Amino acid sequence: MENFLGFPTGVSGADLAFRAQLQAIKFGARVAVPRRAEKLQPSTRPGYYEVTLDDGTNLLGRSVVIATGARYRKLGVPEEERFQGAGLYYAATELEARTCKGQEVVVVGGGNSAGQAAMFLASRASCVHLVHRGRDLSDGMSQYLVERLRHAANVSIETRSQVVELSGDEHLRTVKIRDGEGRVVARSVGGLFIMIGADPCTGWLKDAVLLDVHGFVRTGEDCGPDASVPFNVFQTNLPGVFAVGDVRSGSVKRVASAVGEGSVVVQAIHARLASLRQAEAPEPVTL
Ligand SMILES: Cc1cc2nc3c(=O)[nH]c(=O)nc-3n(C[C@H](O)[C@H](O)[C@H](O)COP(=O)(O)OP(=O)(O)OC[C@H]3O[C@@H](n4cnc5c(N)ncnc54)[C@H](O)[C@@H]3O)c2cc1C
Repeated sequence: MENFLGFPTGVSGADLAFRAQLQAIKFGARVAVPRRAEKLQPSTRPGYYEVTLDDGTNLLGRSVVIATGARYRKLGVPEEERFQGAGLYYAATELEARTCKGQEVVVVGGGNSAGQAAMFLASRASCVHLVHRGRDLSDGMSQYLVERLRHAANVSIETRSQVVELSGDEHLRTVKIRDGEGRVVARSVGGLFIMIGADPCTGWLKDAVLLDVHGFVRTGEDCGPDASVPFNVFQTNLPGVFAVGDVRSGSVKRVASAVGEGSVVVQAIHARLASLRQAEAPEPVTL
């Protein structure tokens, strides 16, 4: 992570997660690691939900926050792990763009995120090669973006193509791309940007909450008429069950936004607990 507030020299995902865990324990959280949540369902105890873990333990809660994230799709070529963060990126922000200034870059993908990354990088890089394995960008990208890319002087759209090999020293230097005719071209690059989507970690939710067509958790207005009352933008169709971060449909997929969404639902959880307590309090006796 290079752009998370408070870490000017960057921090690895593992280090950040470890620090967060220590901090959570300090504030009284009970951590179950390594355990997987396997099921979420309303409990037989009224007003409670039940989360079943992979060791069979059932956790009861009046509110549940789903924050199981998403797995970023990888190219599946050798050396991909080694060059991660050293020329190979899964995001295209100002920071990555700066390291590629004036050099050639390769963007892989055929969706809007790949198109937006290519347009953004074209303003910094000498040339952007947009590599897409399909025949036509219009199949998965908004037409306005396809038009912009076609008219950009330093963007080359390479359909029916895929990255087949990476090489370099401590930094990625060369990307080999195979086209539809089987020809392989080696390109010297300042950066390779993988924008081929992410798979949500929602298999454990099955039919428990509403998901979008890609399997991300719907919240707020996205739940349509099934939105829970009182309304909250991060609440699922189940009252008191929230989804934040990468797992949420339409999320920004950045650390700061995941953390921010998590902090916002805390207030909603307190409000829910207070209203449940109020509803369950015995009626005052008037004499
Ligand atoms: C290589 C890479 C570089 C990145 N660089 C940046 C960057 O520089 N800046 C930035 O802002 N963002 C960056 N991101 C994106 C950022 O990592 C995510 O947006 C952020 O981590 C989302 O947080 P989250 O809590 O929603 O999900 P995650 O961080 O993915 O956390 C979800 C957790 O839930 C666990 N989990 C999944 N399923 C279950 C289950 N059934 N039971 C229990 N636990 C489960 C997962 O193992 C994981 O630990 C990067 C991502 C990648 C892959």
